[in-house]
Amino acid sequence: MAQNIDQKFVHDTFPEPVMPSCPIVKDLTGQKALVTGASSGIGKAVAIALGRAGADVVVNYVSGPEDAEAVAAEVRFCGAQAMTYRADVSKEDEVQAMFKAICDQWGTIDILVNNAGIQKDAAFHEMTLAQWQKVIDVNLTGQFLCAREAVREFRRRGVRKEVSCAAGKIICISSVHEVIPWAGHVNYAASKGGIMLMMKSISQEVAPWRIRVNSIGPGAIRTPINTEAWGRPEAYQNLLKLIPYKRIGEPDEIGRAAVWLASDHSDYVNGTTLFVDGGMTLYPGFETGG
Ligand code: NAD
Repeated sequence: MAQNIDQKFVHDTFPEPVMPSCPIVKDLTGQKALVTGASSGIGKAVAIALGRAGADVVVNYVSGPEDAEAVAAEVRFCGAQAMTYRADVSKEDEVQAMFKAICDQWGTIDILVNNAGIQKDAAFHEMTLAQWQKVIDVNLTGQFLCAREAVREFRRRGVRKEVSCAAGKIICISSVHEVIPWAGHVNYAASKGGIMLMMKSISQEVAPWRIRVNSIGPGAIRTPINTEAWGRPEAYQNLLKLIPYKRIGEPDEIGRAAVWLASDHSDYVNGTTLFVDGGMTLYPGFETGG
């Protein structure tokens, strides 16, 4: 059923937003997926969308096992298998133990969604080395460590023709801030810009092995961490000035994009960022001609 959202904030001139209502089809049946940071927000929605598409899903989390278990229960409700696994993606030994546990229990892995990410915001002149380092460690090094383990397994195993044309798929959750500079968030923007060229360089290197590496660049998605900030009508109207499509995004919309990028529908898509941002990367400041 189509659903109307945020009508009270929408400018009179434009049509009211209507959300997509098309069902996700079971394109990923038989595949094993790992989603990092999957106990909340975008990671949770991606894990559930992959489960809905037929994939078995490992719900990685770093704290709050109950939330991770609740996500795993939703994946199982879709008819897929699910397991939870606690690991800090910025720690090499924990990442390696996680991939070993997955391969021991499920035999292999086909899809990695590198989603875990944090912000530690500060004015640049006040940013501590610890704030800089923590964000780089989780957002960038964490994606490197998980991608490296995934590529090792994909290369070892090769293509499983019965489930996919590719030997494996890696989807990096980046941000519109891989291209849009972000004052007050230099560590975060640097980590996302780093993901962009890490993703492209890995893709260039591993594509001959039939391994596909791509990113999703979300912009302004309604997740718990930003719902409060955007809850005030004035803040919401200011945010809409940055979004040509005049609504914020839902986590499920990243889930749908991840299902497509993980599926054979996108088999010829390599080393690209799919922005799911309502046009935020279209320089909306110029929408009146500049
Ligand atoms: P979120 O805080 O709900 O999700 C981040 C998840 O990562 C949390 O579950 C957290 O526990 C987990 N995590 C943090 N450190 C970890 C670690 N060391 N090891 C494992 N897991 C860890 O926020 P979200 O908005 O859902 O963000 C998810 C991803 O989407 C992030 O990479 C974020 O940068 C990106 N993103 C979000 C938006 C948005 O508008 N919400 C926009 C652009 C990009």
